[in-house]
Amino acid sequence: MDRRQRSQQPALKGSCSSTRVMDREDEALTPADVTPNAGQRSSGGGSAVRKRKQLPKQQQQPEDGCSELKESSALSPEVADWIKDCARELKIRKDDRSRAAEVVNDFRDSLLKFLKSSTDQPFFQSAEFLNTGSYFEKVKIHSPDEFDMMLKLQAPARFQTTMLDDGLFYRLDLLHPTRSPMKAFVLENELTVSPSRILSEMYRLVRKFLKAYTAPDPRCCWEVNRKRPSSPAVTLSLRRTDGGGEELISVDVVPALVVHSTQGWPQAVRRGPNVDEWLGKKERQEIMNLPCIFVPKRLKGPNAKDTKESWRISFSLVEKEMIKNHGHTKTCCEANSKKCCRKQCLMLLKSLIEGLKQRFPEELEDLCSYHGKTAFLHTLSLRSTDAMWAPKQLPVCFLNLLETLEEFARRRTLPHYFVPECNLFSTRVFHRKSLDFLVSALKQQRAEGLPLLKPPGPVSPLRPVSPMEEPSRRPPMAAAHDSHFTPTVKLVFALTLVLCVLYIIKVTANVN
Ligand SMILES: [Zn+2]
Repeated sequence: MDRRQRSQQPALKGSCSSTRVMDREDEALTPADVTPNAGQRSSGGGSAVRKRKQLPKQQQQPEDGCSELKESSALSPEVADWIKDCARELKIRKDDRSRAAEVVNDFRDSLLKFLKSSTDQPFFQSAEFLNTGSYFEKVKIHSPDEFDMMLKLQAPARFQTTMLDDGLFYRLDLLHPTRSPMKAFVLENELTVSPSRILSEMYRLVRKFLKAYTAPDPRCCWEVNRKRPSSPAVTLSLRRTDGGGEELISVDVVPALVVHSTQGWPQAVRRGPNVDEWLGKKERQEIMNLPCIFVPKRLKGPNAKDTKESWRISFSLVEKEMIKNHGHTKTCCEANSKKCCRKQCLMLLKSLIEGLKQRFPEELEDLCSYHGKTAFLHTLSLRSTDAMWAPKQLPVCFLNLLETLEEFARRRTLPHYFVPECNLFSTRVFHRKSLDFLVSALKQQRAEGLPLLKPPGPVSPLRPVSPMEEPSRRPPMAAAHDSHFTPTVKLVFALTLVLCVLYIIKVTANVN
């Protein structure tokens, strides 16, 4: 190993810095509750799935539970227990979110009322929030509570899409100049729909709304955060007003152009995702019947043209649907059916990525949990049967998923799940050094018993902490280090004490 490589080795010891890290527009999806379904899925008739040459080799071989165990021989019983413990804790934290969701619901409903009655901006009067009336997807695994919501804006019936990269980013042009309320958001050419103008107007409207709105708890207030050029969202924080201004909840409101069904998906994604073996061909068809959504996101990269006015396809709705109905068997995880550990594996991976980003905010700046979710979706396509994800296999399945992400990073290729031509690990969007660091960090995590799987994030102030709560368990390797360390300290202390006593005796004897 040369010096350059050594300098990139992550040092896992030391304090953990907490920082806002996630690329949240990519984060609209967290495994949600499973919708009850009936019947079996079509297996796709055993037809061959799309090309897989870019996927890690180990994932291309079907495995049963036994071969999985052999494969992950590094998994000790202590690490397996640690993984199960972390999964249990994540479940508890997930249940806690309902308290925060009440506060966010009030904000969302009041904002929508304001927009609908706002006469100075008719384009937003027809806005709706996507997924209204159900729940919010919690974005981050750990506190503070963060939420995403998409504000659905109606796109024109027909428009022209111009691809700006390999199929994710587009410029949208009207076919003819319009006199509809959208007129306020087209460029001087009267055709190009401007994401930056729509986002700026959202900022103005949200600020205006907050002037008259008070949160249900008078000790808190909402405020708009500073605009980040790469973010497609208006980000708000709920802060305490009584001392400190501590952030309790953070919300991203993303304006989303929902494409008319007659327009359909852009050509690059029209064939649909690689789910034939896993969910079935019929399901792939149903997925592609969902509406295409564009969000105002700037294209990254030095040579990117039109970056200010680019839209990116959001697969939020589609991903949510797929993760909700995630089984090869349609009844997977239903009340009286067999369960699987797929969603737990995704939660654990998100937790580890969050832990890594908290620990190495600069080195892993390019990493976001969407990389983890992409690796997860590829794994689901290839490990398609429910038996491969049996609940008792959780530790093995999770390690397998982790190794898959590591392998993608080692190959510097992570194809976007829906637009495989887009490489999420290309040097244009993910620095080479950062990717090398990620490979080392993941390897080290596995070698040391996954100490960052449960990062020491702050507990949400909205969540009452019971004094009876058990102290958190520590990762197996950390405990091992401690037990080794304590006798050594004791020995050194005893020797120092003896030397001091001898010295005092000698000094006393000399004085006398
Ligand atoms: Zn399941």
